[in-house]
Amino acid sequence: MESKKISNKYFIRIDRGEEIVSKLIEFCNERSIKLGEISAIGAVNEATIGIFDPLKKEYHSAEFKGTYEILSIMGNITSNNDQPYLHMHIMLSDSEYNAFGGHLNKAIVSATCEVIIDEFEGKLNRFYDEKTGLNLVEL
Ligand code: FE
Repeated sequence: MESKKISNKYFIRIDRGEEIVSKLIEFCNERSIKLGEISAIGAVNEATIGIFDPLKKEYHSAEFKGTYEILSIMGNITSNNDQPYLHMHIMLSDSEYNAFGGHLNKAIVSATCEVIIDEFEGKLNRFYDEKTGLNLVEL
């Protein structure tokens, strides 16, 4: 992973073999980024993505292995118990050009992943909400 700061944004390159979610958490910890927006494109050969079932209040996840383009990663950075909390969704394209996606749990870069983090001033926390079963943003 390499990065460069440009005004209040970071351009980050995550390299082959590296796992996207853990690398971005590591990055936010190193730079003390508490609030922001994430977007990315790239390619992966392994991904674990989830779908939240609001009735059962639980995540179902599935693992994919193959050749995939990251059409888009969108997400945000907030804080939970003073730790960076990254909420990201991913859309992938398979070798037949079919798109699918979900909540991003884990993804391994196969070629490169180009991330932009836009850092905001301030801090927003998360709290556990019984009604939804999710860690919601406290506003
Ligand atoms: Fe989600």
